[in-house]
Amino acid sequence: MVTDRRRLALSASCLTLPAMTETLAGEQHTTSAVARRRPALSPSRAADFKQCPLLYRFRVVDRLPEKPSRSQVRGTVVHAVLERLFALPAHRRDPATGRALVAPAWDDVLAASPELAELFAGSEDPEHAEWLDSARTLVDGYFALEDPRSVQPEACELLVEAELSTGDVDDGEALLLRGYIDRLDVATTGEIRVVDYKTGAAPRDVFEAKALFQMKFYALALLRLRGVVPRQLRLLYLADRQALTYTPDEAELIRFERTLGAIWSAIRRAARSGDFRPNPSRMCGWCDHKACCPAFGGSPPPYPGWPDSSSAGGESPVSRHGDI
Ligand code: SF4
Repeated sequence: MVTDRRRLALSASCLTLPAMTETLAGEQHTTSAVARRRPALSPSRAADFKQCPLLYRFRVVDRLPEKPSRSQVRGTVVHAVLERLFALPAHRRDPATGRALVAPAWDDVLAASPELAELFAGSEDPEHAEWLDSARTLVDGYFALEDPRSVQPEACELLVEAELSTGDVDDGEALLLRGYIDRLDVATTGEIRVVDYKTGAAPRDVFEAKALFQMKFYALALLRLRGVVPRQLRLLYLADRQALTYTPDEAELIRFERTLGAIWSAIRRAARSGDFRPNPSRMCGWCDHKACCPAFGGSPPPYPGWPDSSSAGGESPVSRHGDI
């Protein structure tokens, strides 16, 4: 199932560094360590709180429904295609196979979330065919950036969880980071490359700031889990066929850890008081909740209190891959 979030252990591997090739065949292990669920911070939800505390509340605390856009769902489909591509033997990872995976991936996304059918006026809707073609174009964009036959990831859609000894621990729990890495490549030397695919069309400056925040988040989680600073953070922009690479250093990740601790402390303070303030910006254009937002003349629902479950900080496949 393309929407199945795999529970994967982080493990050492024996990969060769040159081109991050030759490999362990995408070993994926179940682990009891990641089975525990409790409030955690994900990159998307941390970015929400930074952008607008009220938006964070609407998504995490109130869990107000949102209608995914075609662009967001397309991102989910393309991520599923790339995950499936790397599950194939290397010699079968060609552009035609990638394009052929688009329709089945969409079928599976739709089967998991039947309400997404409302995005189109039926399967005969010509806009549906155009949309599927645009997903195939994004897959082509991937092949313009990399030859997947020369890459053997350690894992795709990798769940990482790492506990930090920072942030608000008044409630007896340290900050737990939780996120999904699109692809993890590991060399025989132990050097790690984190790869993230971007398919969206948000303003480039906002987009890149959020992407870098997300990549540092993963790098910090890996540093705490493996004791290794990832050698490379690689962003693949499939729409404009550009790759950005970033090399973090430990000092900046430790500074970033303090930043996340401060964000988590602020979230916990707001959780206790219920004071999640709106912070209007041009990103309001993508917000589904203007009708409940005081900045737009609306009123939020009564504050229901902080959720007990692991929903705090969670993210759906669409929100993870929607790029907004
Ligand atoms: S409309 Fe803007 S200010 Fe209001 S909740 Fe959404 S993002 Fe925040």
